Amino acid sequence: MNVDKVLLASPRGFCAGVEKAIKALDWMTKVFAPPVFCYHEIVHNQYVVDHFKNLGVIFVDDIADVPTGAPLMLSAHGSPPSVIANAQANGGTVIDAVCPLVTKVHHELKVRSRKGYTVLYVGHEGHEEAVGTMAVAPESVHLIQNESDIETVSRMEGPFALLSQTTLSLDEWQDLRDYAIAKIPDLWLPNRSDLCFATTNRQAALREIAATADAVVVIGSANSSNTVALTKVASSVGCEKVYRVNAASELPEGLTGVVGVTAGASAPESLVNEVLQKLNPREGVYVNPVTIEDEYFPPPPELRELLRSLESLIALSFSGSLPQDDVASRDRDFSAAAVLAR
Ligand code: SF4
Repeated sequence: MNVDKVLLASPRGFCAGVEKAIKALDWMTKVFAPPVFCYHEIVHNQYVVDHFKNLGVIFVDDIADVPTGAPLMLSAHGSPPSVIANAQANGGTVIDAVCPLVTKVHHELKVRSRKGYTVLYVGHEGHEEAVGTMAVAPESVHLIQNESDIETVSRMEGPFALLSQTTLSLDEWQDLRDYAIAKIPDLWLPNRSDLCFATTNRQAALREIAATADAVVVIGSANSSNTVALTKVASSVGCEKVYRVNAASELPEGLTGVVGVTAGASAPESLVNEVLQKLNPREGVYVNPVTIEDEYFPPPPELRELLRSLESLIALSFSGSLPQDDVASRDRDFSAAAVLAR
């Protein structure tokens, strides 16, 4: 490589929802003998999925593939109500690692549907988050991917509401939102956009550096919506060479000049470090944080309850008294990166 300088986006990589999901699945592998099952990839990153496969986790796309009574985790993207019901009926422990910001959109859809709204949902067909969200009120919701979808739905009976997938590119969302507002008077929108803080922060950080970079490298998987959104952001500010890579081994040969680097919300920092090592910039790595993220999502309530019960049982057996605090309350003391490094 003949790279002069790397501009490293900040924030990048793991968000609070991904931290929560990875740590929760790690707890499952400690508490239960393998195999632990997981409905869909826990997060959309091959490195993370392979890590858990090595620990005996089996990823399935159908609850029917989970043996009766086996422990099961539901992925961070949020699952359809029918999947949750089938999982619970399967007889084993079920922990739902859904991100609370996805749950917020499920809730908005449920409420608008109950109030008789026709809901326009901006999302990507087939993406697990979109599938899980739309299944909350299929009778009321319509997938919006372009302006002609808005035209079609606007001819239906109102009132209308507009919701979205959490991980869209800001430009894609804003263009469709503005079109819908112009088309549909009295369109209901949530007070805060459904695009999550992690998505908007990572895009803002990349926008800061992409315009002045000769090339941009986005680390993350092809099926990660927010990773793909980052590649669109880099292109939209005029960067002509934008590369999405799973790992350093996929970096294109011949990168030169100033290279911007970022990572999707499900890509571990260890992959970023490997990319930086391979780029080996002559003048070093420059970081200019646009914001500091301190969001933290605690473990799923079912997992907290499970850990609390197990710890109480162990403490009572050995010391005859209950523990002062519980292991779940110390969850904040370690990171998903530390879990993956073990
Ligand atoms: S990208 Fe946003 S919605 Fe998805 S897990 Fe992270 S915080 Fe939650």
